[in-house]
Amino acid sequence: MHPDQDFDQLLAERPTTSGRSPEAVLHEVFGYESFRPLQGEVIHEVVRGGDALVLMPTGGGKSLCYQVPALVRSGTAIVISPLIALMQDQVAALRELGVRAAFLNSTMDFEQARATEYALSTGELDLLYCAPERLIQPRTLELLHGASISLFAIDEAHCVSQWGHDFRSDYLQLAVLASEFPEVPRIALTATADERTRKEIAERLSLTEARHFISSFDRPNIQYRIAPKTNANKQLLDFIKAEHEGDCGIVYCLSRNKVDATAKMLMQNGYTALPYHAGLPAADRANHQERFLREDGVIIVATIAFGMGIDKPDVRFVAHLDLPKSLEAYYQETGRAGRDGKPSTAWMVYGLQDVIKLRQMLEASQGNDHFKRIERQKLDAMLGLCEVTRCRRQVLLNYFGDKLDNPCGNCDTCLVPPETWDGTVAVQKALSCVFRTGQRFGVTYLIDVLRGSENERVLQFGHHQVSTYGIGTELSVNEWKSVFRQLVANGYLRADPEGYGALQLTEQCRPLLKGQQTVKLRKDPVVKKSAGRSSGRRTGSAIKDQITDHAGWEALRACRKELADQQGVPPYVIFHDTTLFDMLERKPKTLDELAGVSGVGAAKLEKYGEIFLATLAGLD
Ligand code: ADP
Ligand code: ZN
Repeated sequence: MHPDQDFDQLLAERPTTSGRSPEAVLHEVFGYESFRPLQGEVIHEVVRGGDALVLMPTGGGKSLCYQVPALVRSGTAIVISPLIALMQDQVAALRELGVRAAFLNSTMDFEQARATEYALSTGELDLLYCAPERLIQPRTLELLHGASISLFAIDEAHCVSQWGHDFRSDYLQLAVLASEFPEVPRIALTATADERTRKEIAERLSLTEARHFISSFDRPNIQYRIAPKTNANKQLLDFIKAEHEGDCGIVYCLSRNKVDATAKMLMQNGYTALPYHAGLPAADRANHQERFLREDGVIIVATIAFGMGIDKPDVRFVAHLDLPKSLEAYYQETGRAGRDGKPSTAWMVYGLQDVIKLRQMLEASQGNDHFKRIERQKLDAMLGLCEVTRCRRQVLLNYFGDKLDNPCGNCDTCLVPPETWDGTVAVQKALSCVFRTGQRFGVTYLIDVLRGSENERVLQFGHHQVSTYGIGTELSVNEWKSVFRQLVANGYLRADPEGYGALQLTEQCRPLLKGQQTVKLRKDPVVKKSAGRSSGRRTGSAIKDQITDHAGWEALRACRKELADQQGVPPYVIFHDTTLFDMLERKPKTLDELAGVSGVGAAKLEKYGEIFLATLAGLD
């Protein structure tokens, strides 16, 4: 699915681009009204030839930070991007805008690569996307020396960080750009970077002189929700049915088996759900990703192998059926929702077994003590977010060194503040039960003992005679599970790495057992039949909720889909939902009026203006 690499045609369509102001490019080419926060400043810096390190959350609008300077400065901008699928989509989208863009990567044959290289050397490209391993080849560098380069953009710059989960050794060699092309401005961009990673990026890419542009990490349109797991499948179905019927979403699971089973379950319930994981044949994976991008309302069920570089703007929900390993991962995965800035949901269920499983995986993993200590801290922070009783967004942002002064009002703990209760006595009972039974049993058994079950195993082990037998009848099984989950999450208990979930006391327990410390526990919400969920609905899929003219909406979407299919591109490459929505609101009657709709630039106006005007005229 190469975008058509016919340069003659492209050249004929549009004259050379340099000499315009950033604002003019924004309006004419992209059809946007104004720059987003920080975009204007970054663009100014790069246009004047300075280096920049840009941190923006997913959906913040990073691409424009180099695409606009690429069209303002003369020469070709080289964009280094690690993901071939993303590269192809971006190039397709740029070409739709009439921009002379191309890519160089391993999927092209010799002829195609030659044609692209030729176009570069003769100055016929505004942007050239290139995979890092390709760029650092001596042959490519030589080619670049022979061309006029306007800037280098290094996308997903956190890939240079050895601590991150996306490390790519090729990225380390990108430092050569600084020494070989000292006069060419470089801009590095990422959505994931704590302070340490940011320093690493600056050092390893020789960007120590670069200006840093750090935008807020807040994604206000994403509603964060985390609920205790009771019946994950049912909870997921209820959630989708109540709030995201017909929407496109991603469901993350930890294992391949669970991915397959969950996709099947959703299919059986009438949803278009496709599995995606490393165990599927490459052709199936590509096909599923393709359908996710191109069809409406597809749910992809995936392991974390899916998602990096998916820049589909209208993913309305991201659901986690398993706990991510860190807040970095959680933030990155949930961040795939709502790139278009419209209301979206990050929804997760988690339970004690998740905590135990992740802790065991971590302890059993290869890696030295230092590594494990960092991983442990990361998991603790993730669990902290799950169990917190105050605003989740404040906790999340705080972790990334960002500050939100007031509770956000758009997370579950803000919308329905969780109750807490004095768990001091219950915790003492739980911990001493662990101790009295020899720290050899899992949670189900411990609850049996606490609640005085006459279960055979309990009698067999003689635990009906320990002092903690039957002292916990005041709490239900689920309430005890909640107590144990919070004890493990907060580090008072740990799961024996080899002992199939046997719980053991940690050093932290001491003051609790001695009664020197009181404990506040979170009361798990009681799930009422659909009623209690109304809070989430309010901000469900707002685009859909706001549409009154459903027939008009469907007509515009059908028009878009037909054009997309004709050109072999995803529908959002033609126009985003937000653009269609704006069209439906304004009902433009002339090309001039249509040009005022956000997202309608000059090239698209010319190509699609008449068709959409006709579709709009056919409404009423
Ligand atoms: P990122 O790479 O930071 O995740 P993108 O560059 O893909 O984000 O931008 C996210 C979305 O926002 C895209 O759909 C893009 O077209 C849109 N966008 C970016 N900048 C603007 C702007 N100034 N005005 C309107 N829409 C914008
Ligand atoms: Zn909040």
